[in-house]
Amino acid sequence: MKIAILSRDASLYSTKRLKEAGEQRGHEIKVVDHMRCYMNITSHRPSIMYQGQPLENFDAVIPRIGASNTFYGTAVVRQFEMMEVFTANESQAISRSRDKLRCLQILAKEGIGLPVTGFAHSTQDIEGLINIVNGAPLVIKLLEGTQGIGVVLAETEQAATSVIEAFRGLNANILVQEFIAEAKGADLRCFVVNDRVVAAMKRQGAEGEFRSNLHRGGKAQKVKLTPEERSTAVRAAKTMGLKVAGVDLLRSNHGPVVMEVNSSPGLEGIEKATEVDVSGKIIEFIEKKAVKGAMRDRIPY
Ligand code: ADP
Ligand code: MG
Repeated sequence: MKIAILSRDASLYSTKRLKEAGEQRGHEIKVVDHMRCYMNITSHRPSIMYQGQPLENFDAVIPRIGASNTFYGTAVVRQFEMMEVFTANESQAISRSRDKLRCLQILAKEGIGLPVTGFAHSTQDIEGLINIVNGAPLVIKLLEGTQGIGVVLAETEQAATSVIEAFRGLNANILVQEFIAEAKGADLRCFVVNDRVVAAMKRQGAEGEFRSNLHRGGKAQKVKLTPEERSTAVRAAKTMGLKVAGVDLLRSNHGPVVMEVNSSPGLEGIEKATEVDVSGKIIEFIEKKAVKGAMRDRIPY
């Protein structure tokens, strides 16, 4: 098969590993920087140009779209869809999961376990917002944050009020969330491919840090999931319409709760911690499912 990896940087671990895994299985793999593509959307034959040449005869694309390029990146994925090229994740699903609030709203509707969460922009009723999550300690998040930046633990209601006021001054959308103290600074990254968890790791935040992000000094190790954790992760990915997803769970007193669903989950941490060939699993999924024009997304939100 001829497969394009949409990635800004061919030297990234995830990009290199996907290319390697595809080539090992006899496929022709091309790394395409989606930000350097341009498109012809006026003709009846949609096309994508890259380095002066049309991108033609691809059987599948694997989007690895960074959070800062969602708008243009998903437009390129959509153009491949218009050309009836199979994509590991569809553009709609990528856009949907990038919006944390949209993500939580859809997961909540499906009855998937979530931390109690409030959402606001410029409310004057800070007390009411804090009451939604039953007071402090609570977690406040900037909707646009990634890698743990913009996630704040407020231990007291006073601290919460000042942080919310400060964020309001920034004209930002914020989430206010029940603090899952019993997770003890750890979360579970469940790597889902084609409706199955293929690898899972536990990330433990650095000493004294409630955020488990590896970018914040967290450490990862292989973990065995409970059947409930497994099914929660699979349901969350399915609900978002993602075939390749990193589902992050917290172990709470009321069962696993979903924190976020990532559409371009990194491969380095998970492959190193679990020694599972996750890249190979993604290629295998494409071998099995890549059919011309097979659009699957039926999610109305
Ligand atoms: P980001 O998108 O920046 O990674 P997250 O929502 O994933 O933001 O939060 C970062 C980290 O903070 C999580 O991995 C988790 O360890 C911790 N965390 C986030 N929300 C909560 C919460 N409600 N209770 C306990 N820990 C949390
Ligand atoms: Mg996170």
